[in-house]
Amino acid sequence: MKTDIEIAQETTMKPIVEIAQKAGLTADDIEFYGKYKAKIPFSSMEKVKDNPEGKLVLVTSINPTPAGEGKSTVTVGLADAFNRQGKNVMVALREPSLGPVMGIKGGATGGGYAQVVPMEEINLHFTGDIHAITAANNAIAAFIDNSLQQGNPLNIDPRRISWKRVVDLNDRALRHVTVGLGGPLNGVPREDGFDITVASEIMAVLCLATSLTDLKERIARIVVASTYDREPVTVADLGVAGAIAMLLKEAIKPNLVQTLEGTPTLIHGGPFANIAHGCNSILATRTALKLADIVITEAGFGADLGGEKFLDIKTRQLGKTPDAIVVVATIRALKMHGGLDKKELTTEDVPALERGFANLERHIKNMKTYGRPVVVAVNQFADDTETEVAKLTEMTTELGVEVSLTQVFAKGGEGGLDLADKVSEAIEGPAQDFHYLYELDKSTEEKIEAVVTKIYGGAKVNYSPKARRQLQEIEKNGWSELPVCLAKTQYSFSDNPSLLAAPSGFEVTVRDLIPKLGAGFIVALTGDVMTMPGLPKAPAALRMDIDEKGLISGLF
Ligand code: ADP
Repeated sequence: MKTDIEIAQETTMKPIVEIAQKAGLTADDIEFYGKYKAKIPFSSMEKVKDNPEGKLVLVTSINPTPAGEGKSTVTVGLADAFNRQGKNVMVALREPSLGPVMGIKGGATGGGYAQVVPMEEINLHFTGDIHAITAANNAIAAFIDNSLQQGNPLNIDPRRISWKRVVDLNDRALRHVTVGLGGPLNGVPREDGFDITVASEIMAVLCLATSLTDLKERIARIVVASTYDREPVTVADLGVAGAIAMLLKEAIKPNLVQTLEGTPTLIHGGPFANIAHGCNSILATRTALKLADIVITEAGFGADLGGEKFLDIKTRQLGKTPDAIVVVATIRALKMHGGLDKKELTTEDVPALERGFANLERHIKNMKTYGRPVVVAVNQFADDTETEVAKLTEMTTELGVEVSLTQVFAKGGEGGLDLADKVSEAIEGPAQDFHYLYELDKSTEEKIEAVVTKIYGGAKVNYSPKARRQLQEIEKNGWSELPVCLAKTQYSFSDNPSLLAAPSGFEVTVRDLIPKLGAGFIVALTGDVMTMPGLPKAPAALRMDIDEKGLISGLF
């Protein structure tokens, strides 16, 4: 079989204006970024704001393993299946970060015959949104250091600056740095550090903002430091909220591209789901809902991370909950949850599948508690055997949920027709009440406990002495009504990446609580999850190349 990039490069893309027309927009309604990419300006979002809203389908998955799950692949394939059935459908996805592209993952635009194109551009610098976010973030850092240099009028305690610089690469050497060295002319020396751009609050703010004014207000509220008297210092105090919002004026507009089968796709915003909230932008999802009858969107990593955050954080701001939830699983990954090594996955092993099924089972049960129909999509790999497929179908059906074997990787939309039928049935079914995991009037501790005990299956939450103090500050400052965004390893329900399948009885330790007032949530850092990833021994970049004609290879 051809590689993802070979398949993508063989495709004849349609001019983006045709894709826009398919979504009900004219050439005047879009801003062209070359022939195959466009941005949707506010005037066009305004034009469609009174359109009826389509149905929303959330695609999430089991805990990822090195065997691969294929959420983006299934998201794209499902949309292409609806497209083949003549439905008015759109996809809403996140923008890939260069960190994982160059590091472990390669491209993040789906796979096989279920991809979004132009994949090279989307995976590399796309329309520059992430670079604009990096610049906006680092501008705030520069204004903080300048304030210290210019006599420190805000009384900022340099030891209590929480705002970090960012870069959109995996670069562990930047986690802890010292800035301002070199004497009085070169600033005030202090400890600083870098996060990856997709973990930054500016990324979260851009994804959750509903307008330019809302963007500016959110930026103004961001807490960057505290004073010597332990009072919060915000971007509003620095006086630069307007300037920072200005830097994001293009980045905030959703990007329009297409799938291999010509389904209109919005790709916009890209927070990670392990260390941030993990969903594409509100503006993109909302615009897609106004343009299409069915919108397929994806939340990052497993249903314990991106799924939970989509349901408890994003839907509150979006004002819309999903009409159905698709949980993606692969037989290979479930066998890894059942204890097999990556090298052992090509041989049939039903007992391992049965053991690993515990992971899928807990995710299904968790998603059902929100009150929405759940459909399981089994993303078929070439080595899956008939016996394994039959066993997985049987175990899933016993839980009372629909399951569909999808072959979108090998066949594109054609391989997802059965899944589309099952999802159609789910979204057309009788409406049920939606239940949030927690109400906002609960305390921060109660919210974290709800996530840990009800979603992760843990027994108890522990707090470091620092986190205990932070809980008091959150209370004192009146921030308790915000939802929580747990930063946790994606590999396990617990905060220990080696506990696979469905561990229970474990305790989760919160070591740090970071109020993100612009985004509107409190980040709780658990385990040793890092907000700046490192590169592996053999980074994906080693396989990448470009030739004299500009042809790219190895981007998966
Ligand atoms: P996720 O969104 O869950 O991270 P992706 O859809 O990005 O997963 O897929 C991860 C990788 O796995 C991609 O390189 C993709 O080509 C590959 N992949 C996905 N589904 C299949 C499949 N059915 N068979 C073989 N490879 C697949």
